[in-house]
Order: sequence, then C-alpha cells, then structure tokens
Amino acid sequence: MKTPSSLNHLVDALRVLPGVGPKSAQRMAYHLLQRDQPGAAALAHALADALARLQHCQRCNTFTEQDLCELCSDPSRDAHQLCVVEMPADLLRMEQTLAFKGYYFVLMGRLSPLDGIGPSDIHFDKLLARAQDGIVEEVILSTNFTVEGEATAHYLAELLRAQGLKVSRIARGLPSGGELEHVDSSTLAQALIERRSL
Ligand code: ZN
Repeated sequence: MKTPSSLNHLVDALRVLPGVGPKSAQRMAYHLLQRDQPGAAALAHALADALARLQHCQRCNTFTEQDLCELCSDPSRDAHQLCVVEMPADLLRMEQTLAFKGYYFVLMGRLSPLDGIGPSDIHFDKLLARAQDGIVEEVILSTNFTVEGEATAHYLAELLRAQGLKVSRIARGLPSGGELEHVDSSTLAQALIERRSL
C-alpha cells in the first residue's frame, strides 16, 4: 500500500526540526493527525503567523514585529555598552540579572565550522556596523563558554579590536561548557561585573 502523498510531505516537513530523523518525524505526524488535531491546527497557524510577522531587529538582530525591537527603542539604556550574545534566550537571561543597562546584539548562532556555519551566517557584518556607530565604547562578548562560543568570542575580539573598539569577555564564573541559558542570575551578573578586557 502506498502512503498518501500529503502524509509523506508532512513527515518530510517535520524533519527540518533539529535532531528529528525519519522515525520520530513519522511518530510526530501520526500523533498530530490522530491524537491532537486542534494542536496540529494551532501549530500550523502559529508557524504561519510567526513567519509572516517576525523579522530581525534592524539594530540588534533579535526577532521583532517592528523595524526596531522594544529594547532598541528604549532611549534610557546606556548606548556606550554593547553586549553580544548568541541567541534571544541569552538576551533574556542577561536582562534577568538586572546587571546590564546597555544595548545588545544577537548573533542568532555561533561559529561552527564543522556544521558549515561561518562568519557570514552569524551576521558579523551587521555587528561590525552596529559597533561602529561612533557611540559604542565597549563591546562585551557574552557568548557561551562552549568550544564554539569561545571560538566565536575569540574571532569577534580580533575583528572588533582591529576597529579600535574596547572589547571585554564576561568572566568565567560560569562552568566550562556552560550555556548562559542554564546559569543562575547571580552567577551571570557576577560574570558580567568581573568581565575582563580582551
Ligand atoms: Zn533590537
């Protein structure tokens, strides 16, 4: 018996999710169709809606529904400091510490040559332009303390220093291999306060 083509398409489509192989894609498809049709409809709607409405903030690169995100539109922040993080979740973690009053830049990833992710994939040009607005004085690199995060920080430090910018790296109160998302607020706040010049 031949599998209906719409079912095949759904299984193939689910495989765009990271870590989802053919078997789990098939399980997800059956679950959505058989056990949770309202959930499946909500998922389809939310995905289409997000794709239609979200764009990258022109200044910090995070997701927003306007040209500028809420944070970049806030004039009370300290425009002399720019904190570079990997993902929007890291920005939120940093905000929860209440220790940082500057602006952010979100790379939307990290350098990962093995996965074919190079400088152009994580918006280095946009970051360079942002950091050279004439107002930013210090760039604080807050990428994760993973191998890729460290390599990204190292690469960025060279690039930004060559433009005459002061560059620092959050301190290593964080565990090796640690991802910002999983660190408690006080440890992260301390790492920010104890950042070192690069
Ligand atoms: Zn923004």
